[in-house]
Amino acid sequence: MQLSLTPDQSPNQSENLTGKAIAIHQKLCVEYGCPIAYFHNLDPLSELVSSLLSHRTKNKDSGRAFKQLRAAFLDWESVRDADTEAVKKAIAPCTWPEQKAPRIQQILRQITRERGTLSVDFLADISVAEARAWLETLTGVGPKTSAAVLAFSTLRRRALPVDSHHHRVAVRTGLIPKKVSVGPSHAILEAQLPENWTAQQVYDNHEVLMLHGQRCCHYRSPACDRCTILDLCLFGQQALGTNGGKH
Ligand code: SF4
Repeated sequence: MQLSLTPDQSPNQSENLTGKAIAIHQKLCVEYGCPIAYFHNLDPLSELVSSLLSHRTKNKDSGRAFKQLRAAFLDWESVRDADTEAVKKAIAPCTWPEQKAPRIQQILRQITRERGTLSVDFLADISVAEARAWLETLTGVGPKTSAAVLAFSTLRRRALPVDSHHHRVAVRTGLIPKKVSVGPSHAILEAQLPENWTAQQVYDNHEVLMLHGQRCCHYRSPACDRCTILDLCLFGQQALGTNGGKH
């Protein structure tokens, strides 16, 4: 298995972290009921737009913005070629529509220029690594968006997105050091998962860690006293004073 090490990790530590990542996954899967149903059934280009709208926006608001955008324009070519003010108006429910509208149009133009057509369906025919690298050449597309396009769209590829909830649980349980931010955490956390896991299992891993962050491991006041992975979390044990004085 290829492991992605942070500078302060030895290979043994990484193997231990793989075992811990699997143990956390299994417990959270029991808690939240794996396999988790895919929440989107969008083609990859639509998923890309949806993902761009969702940056730092509540799901409910980005969902409304996406629906309004689809309703206001016939197709993505029409969005690409539209007056930016009209796009901005359509996506008004999400945060920063004045930045996201021109960014989305820029990306749609970039894809058309590079591919000769406004489609990213070709991503199905290349490796996940190549697909992610290509997506991340698009303006403003980073590891979270590239993973979301591949994992959440109808491509259903094996890629691990990491959002802020997922990241918080990973930091508190010691899967990644606190200093590793969301972007670089993608490669480290994905490398901890067994190579033979299916796309569904990798998707489940993201979903259960995210759900745990939303429902139990809150940003403020995590509910460690009712946490199903307390035995795997030194942060929680220390918070509750149940680690036997170990540091
Ligand atoms: S024990 Fe507490 S800090 Fe650790 S994962 Fe559970 S809720 Fe989060």
